[in-house]
This record gives sequence, structure tokens and C-alpha cells, in this order.
Amino acid sequence: MSGEARFFIVREDKVLVPADRLEITAFTAGDWLQLQAHAATILPLDKGPGSSDFAVELDPDFEAGEGFEWMRLRRLVGRVADAEFDAWGKAAQLLHWHRTHRYCGRCGQATIAHASEQAMVCPACSLSWYPRISPCVIVLVTRGEDLLLARSPRFQEGMYSTLAGFVEPGESVETAVHREIGEEVAIRVGGLRYFGSQPWPFPGQLMLGFLAEYAGGEIEVDGVEISDAAWYHYRRLPLIPGPGTIAGRMIRHYRHLLDGEGPGAEDRDRLRCRR
Ligand SMILES: [Zn+2]
Repeated sequence: MSGEARFFIVREDKVLVPADRLEITAFTAGDWLQLQAHAATILPLDKGPGSSDFAVELDPDFEAGEGFEWMRLRRLVGRVADAEFDAWGKAAQLLHWHRTHRYCGRCGQATIAHASEQAMVCPACSLSWYPRISPCVIVLVTRGEDLLLARSPRFQEGMYSTLAGFVEPGESVETAVHREIGEEVAIRVGGLRYFGSQPWPFPGQLMLGFLAEYAGGEIEVDGVEISDAAWYHYRRLPLIPGPGTIAGRMIRHYRHLLDGEGPGAEDRDRLRCRR
């Protein structure tokens, strides 16, 4: 990346933004002059030559004065462009990784940053750590004009979404889809189709989105990760996640498909018949 330098300032799950701008933006080189004396950690977002984006952690005693505002990273979803959110998320993930890999897990030596790669290296035993990314499957299950939506006890009041879960060691993403759906709502699915992916920096998931078709069984929620799940007609959906999330996009995509705003009349008829 090249161009004017940008500074993405993150502390745990919050980001520091200029309070006086209409749009949420990273700090520019000009803004940075006021803040650089407080910098504790600065990491380039890209290790390639000419990187002009930086992830920054400030001194723990830095207090946001006038003109600055700490905002939860989560609140940026859908409020800034996708590429912008991904940059903030990358900054948060890199700083989290840097903070939690300061010592070698094998021999206990203090680690150092690799010169050219995004890696922390042990100078004593040469073990390397790369930023950790955790793959997760996220699945919209459909049955003709109905969508299977579920809520977790962690969700805001009234919110229903798609099913999701971490991929476990030794699993393909397809296996993870079938296992998660079986565990969470006890039904069977088929016709898996890859939809797309989204980095989700809370703290380091990569959401892999799939559409799946109902293939049998009765909904039975696990009562732990899922507190309620039901079929919803696409015209009578409950409160769903915003379009800045992959869950929100998959649900809207399917609704548009049935409403005829999306691609292919044939596809639409095929979906309607499948009840
Ligand atoms: Zn070591």
C-alpha cells in the first residue's frame, strides 16, 4: 500500500478516532504529530516496501482529551467502508498478536519481530509465530421461502442470525458446517454453496459463509450456544444483523433472490419449489 500515511490507533477492543470529523477515519500524518510522543508500539500493516499504514498502541496512561474519542471497534461495522474496516481490524489483530507473543512458548526467551515477515521470532530457538487467524463457518440454512434463524444469549434483544462456529483441528470446512448445525439445532443439511468470507477481528476469526438447504430433522436447540431457533418466512423476518456483516449479507441475498431483485428467474423458481 502506498500514499499518505495512516495511523490506526487501537487499545484492546477500542479504536481512537478524531472526534471532530463527520466520517470516522484513521489519523493522518498531520494528526499523528500530536500523538506520536505517546506511542508504545507501532507496527506496519504490511511488511512490504512502502507500507504507509500503521497499527499503533499508545501508552496505557494516555487519556483521550478534547478532539479524540475511544469507540468500540464493533461499532465501526457497517459505518465505514469494508476496506477501511478491514484495515482497522487488521491493526487490532496485529496488536493483539504482538501483545500476546512477547515470549517464546517453547523456551521462554523474549521474542523479536522478523525483519521482513509478519512474524515474531525466538532468537534462542528460532521458533516463529505468525498472527493467528481462526476459521469459522457461518451458515444460512433455507427451506424454500423459509430461513432458519437463531439467537444466542449474547445477542441484543430480539436479534436473530445465521448459525456459526469454529472449525476444529482435523476438520474440513464442510465437515464443520454439518457438525455445527447438528450440534446447535440437530437438523441435517445438504446442497452447500460457498457464499464469501469476512475477516472478523474479535479477536481473529475468518468467517467463511455458506448457504445450505434443509435436508431433514426437527429443530432442537442446544440451549447453550443457541437459546432459540425457528423458520422465518423471508417476508416476515425478525431483527437481523446489519448489511456490514456476512450474516446480514447472506440473509439479504437470499431475500433478494426470492423477491426477484437478485439474479436468475430459474434460480428463484427452483428455490420456491423446494419446500
Ligand atoms: Zn525459543
